[in-house]
Amino acid sequence: MKFYSLNNPEAKVSFKHAVVAGIAPDKGLYFPESITALPSSFFEDIASLSNQEIAFQAIRQFVTDDVTDKKLKEILADMLDFEFPVVDIEENIGALELFHGPTMAFKDVGARFMANCLGHFSEDTNEEVTVLVATSGDTGGAVANGFLGVKGVKVVILYPSGKVSDIQEKQLTTLGQNIEALEVEGTFDDCQNMVKKAFLDTEITTTKKLTSANSINVARWLPQLFYFLFAYKASKSKGRDIVFSVPSGNFGNICAGMVAQQLGMPVKHFIAATNCNDTVPNFMSSGHYEPKPSTATISNAMDVGDPSNFVRIRQLHNNDFEALKQNLSAYAFDDTTTKKAMLNIYEQSRYIADPHGALGYLGLKKYLRNKPYTYGIFLETAHPVKFLDVVENTLGIHLEIPLRIQAVMHKTKKSHRIGTYEQLKSFLFN
Ligand SMILES: *Cc1c(COP(=O)(O)O)cnc(C)c1O
Repeated sequence: MKFYSLNNPEAKVSFKHAVVAGIAPDKGLYFPESITALPSSFFEDIASLSNQEIAFQAIRQFVTDDVTDKKLKEILADMLDFEFPVVDIEENIGALELFHGPTMAFKDVGARFMANCLGHFSEDTNEEVTVLVATSGDTGGAVANGFLGVKGVKVVILYPSGKVSDIQEKQLTTLGQNIEALEVEGTFDDCQNMVKKAFLDTEITTTKKLTSANSINVARWLPQLFYFLFAYKASKSKGRDIVFSVPSGNFGNICAGMVAQQLGMPVKHFIAATNCNDTVPNFMSSGHYEPKPSTATISNAMDVGDPSNFVRIRQLHNNDFEALKQNLSAYAFDDTTTKKAMLNIYEQSRYIADPHGALGYLGLKKYLRNKPYTYGIFLETAHPVKFLDVVENTLGIHLEIPLRIQAVMHKTKKSHRIGTYEQLKSFLFN
């Protein structure tokens, strides 16, 4: 399978090339040249398959030129060693919990898959790959953890000093080995701008192999389609139409769900829920795509004003707005509404939702009105303790911090402070 740049269909590369480069030289996102549906027996018999078997069948066609079946099975066994339960919240609503991984962020799966692939691809070269990533908090921990100890790969994480939670900072700065944390005197946007500048800086890119670990990278984006298949497996026996509501920021996760649909998974509709960063909901009602600067909210992993994967979603629907509207509804909600939903869910079902999951729930409720024969699944993308203050204050409860998270608190932070792009550059060269 080849991948092409969305800016130029003629520019085709291998999976390996797409993973190592991250983005095409013309700045286009890589996209699979074809998606072949799995046999219908796969979906009929899905309940008899293990998660690893499901994942193997689903992703094989995309990677098979560069990853042997044996290696792919090893990678999947290594990364899918935790649960993805669908918890019933209401009679026709379930929460797909994606936070049971090592850093309790749903990005663990994508980060681990990408780390394994990059590690595998660098086995037969001497050239080190540097993964450069800016984080506003949650992504960095998942990336750092996924890449820890991977040979031939160095990870440099930039985070805004004083603007991530204590737990998040510890998750980023205490791992050591091949993980380096840069504490930037500035905001998340400053971190991201430095990273973007580095990717365009030929003094760096001619001497170093740089790649990104966000969802523009196909190895981080595609494995997210597993979640939808696992949820389908858990919910198929309900015998109803299934719809998914996905709290969306860069729209990588929901886009992966649409790939699962093109693999033949019976799903009726997708709902994208956003916070007040409502570029996509606006597009879905007006047909005009107008990116804007991001606004800070309590669901900060979704504070994105120009979602990078939305071009992939449009491509999946052949850039046909009417076709897209048939398959996708998008709704935005503000922080007050989100908090009210968190409280409602807790009072009605005793379920503790984090602000991101609560947005997924809100989108689903809105869509499900007058649709009695439908079962809706919203994705709960972060463990509530990852957003401790807002959850505790909104629900008036005290949360126990899981041991897995507590374990980092006594470790010693190691970071390098930087303030300027030149300092990042000299760090990369040393
Ligand atoms: C990254 C993230 C999202 C958004 O996912 P996208 O694929 O960028 O749309 C939602 N919730 C949480 C907790 C996240 O970390």
